[in-house]
Amino acid sequence: MASDGIMEADDLGPDELKSIRVGRGETQAEFAEYLNRNLDRSYNKTSICVWERGTEKIPQPVKVFLRTAAQAAAAQLANVPPPNGEAIVIAVANQKGGVGKTTTAVNLGYALAKAGHRTLLVDLDPQANATIHLGLDPFSLELDAGGVKPQKTLYYVLLKDIPLADIVVPLSEDVPYYGAPASISLAAADAELMSQVGNSQVLLEKFEPIRGDYDFIIIDCPPQLGLLTVNALSAANWVLIPTQTEVLSSMGIPLLMETIKKILKRSNPGLRVLGILPTMHDAQLSDARANLKDLRATYENKMRVFPPIARTTSYAQSVAAGRVTLEALPNALGVDRYVTLAAEIMKMVGVTREVTDAS
Ligand code: ADP
Ligand code: MG
Repeated sequence: MASDGIMEADDLGPDELKSIRVGRGETQAEFAEYLNRNLDRSYNKTSICVWERGTEKIPQPVKVFLRTAAQAAAAQLANVPPPNGEAIVIAVANQKGGVGKTTTAVNLGYALAKAGHRTLLVDLDPQANATIHLGLDPFSLELDAGGVKPQKTLYYVLLKDIPLADIVVPLSEDVPYYGAPASISLAAADAELMSQVGNSQVLLEKFEPIRGDYDFIIIDCPPQLGLLTVNALSAANWVLIPTQTEVLSSMGIPLLMETIKKILKRSNPGLRVLGILPTMHDAQLSDARANLKDLRATYENKMRVFPPIARTTSYAQSVAAGRVTLEALPNALGVDRYVTLAAEIMKMVGVTREVTDAS
């Protein structure tokens, strides 16, 4: 017989079950899949629905599993230092191109800003996709009409003595969202940094004077594991790893993990992985579903595998318009996933403060 203490610890009511599911950003069907993966059952959304309504009892194994998972998550989060008034830096990284890094950085940044957090998006990719996505012109930021260089891009910050604050531009009239733009000249930065002492810490140094000015700094990394990405990982508190739900895309993750391990050892022992974000997911395709299952089976016991971002044309449409998808098409199918992701990340990094006045 279990003692009363254990019975109490295992007990979990309908409201709590629902709040765990909502906290994970999952639908009832997705939450049923999560339980099935871990408990080897075949629950469905109706099971979750009746448990949440209280019309059927939650099975004991489900209660025990969710309690244990919650305790494990709480123990992990207990190690997260509380925000100390300095920006929390999140690098969005994966050396593979076209996996949704830029889309994620831009929309996550907007969602955080919309929640009232002063957010700076740093475009660290020489292709300047985020800069263009946000409606900025990387050419004119670098070269004005008279052929004189305004030097308002990240290259000049990293390699010339320009302070980061000098290149920051506001990205929205409504929310505290700011950008540090890139341009093609950044392509030379990797090679030029190579010859410098302390070349993996330059971005970290450049963040120093502005850390108190923002709540979040989101870095959109380039599609290589070169010095720019190493600078991002050395300056970051957290790394978020987008990957498409296709085999070739997720094959790159172990290499990125190796790099993260080296950074942990050599330059940034505080770096933590937020998790893997499956992107461009087409739930109609059996290959994509199988890959998502594999991703979860491989990584879910080590890190968070977030609910997937669905494949939709809204992202390409808003890039063409130079607008953040969440801002331009807030009702587009699945775009609100980035709002849920932002909410979950705020919880994970220990930012629970509701900001009303971002001055
Ligand atoms: P990366 O920065 O990793 O190279 P991007 O964010 O630029 O990847 O995405 C690559 C392409 O896929 C872009 O054209 C983008 O608009 C598109 N895209 C990104 N996310 C989605 C999505 N969820 N559904 C459909 N298209 C997407
Ligand atoms: Mg990109």
